[in-house]
Amino acid sequence: MYLKRIEVKGFKSFADKIELDFNGGITAIVGPNGSGKSNISDAIRWVLGEQSAKTLRGAKMEDVIFAGTETRKPLGCAEVSLTIDNSDGIVPIEYTEITVTRRLYRSGESEYLINNTPCRLRDIQEIFMDTGIGKDGYSLIGQGRVDEILSTRSEDRRNLFEEAAGIVKYKTRKLEAERKLENTRQNLLRIDDIISELE
Ligand code: ATP
Repeated sequence: MYLKRIEVKGFKSFADKIELDFNGGITAIVGPNGSGKSNISDAIRWVLGEQSAKTLRGAKMEDVIFAGTETRKPLGCAEVSLTIDNSDGIVPIEYTEITVTRRLYRSGESEYLINNTPCRLRDIQEIFMDTGIGKDGYSLIGQGRVDEILSTRSEDRRNLFEEAAGIVKYKTRKLEAERKLENTRQNLLRIDDIISELE
């Protein structure tokens, strides 16, 4: 499984559509200060579901939409698509290529798609769970992240190992099951109350 392609349009400094193909091996993105190198990694983080504008170096989420320049009007929508090669089947779905897309309009409306089919953010998070890909996955190491990993609380470091060990999805499902059990417990209590009122 590897990152195959990224398409960016209307995201931060990229008003026009750009396509970057990663053909195996190491790809380095070079350019002068302020030319948009970090905006590429922001785009990857964003399409994988980042919800924090601060992490994306903005004040509000709308700041990811191209804000215009002296010669160019602002745009109304940002769109990023990320294509992952899944021919080794690491992501347990039948597709050999997975393209995830996120769109955000200035109105605040947003959309997520998997292979052009609308989906929930949760679906994107679920398919990449335990693969290391994801807004907090270890496949994205931003500036200062290595120091952070070495110095943060041991519980936070543990999350990283759990993702690598592939047990995050089971922990997530366990939490969901516990939440459902608790809801059912509360409903049963309510039913008991109603029954005793009727008796
Ligand atoms: P450095 O080498 O200094 O880290 P960089 O190549 O990583 O720089 P970025 O931080 O990716 O550069 O890009 C910064 C540029 O992106 C700035 O010129 C900024 O004006 C522009 N930019 C950020 N958000 C927007 C936006 N919403 N609309 C237009 N341009 C934007």
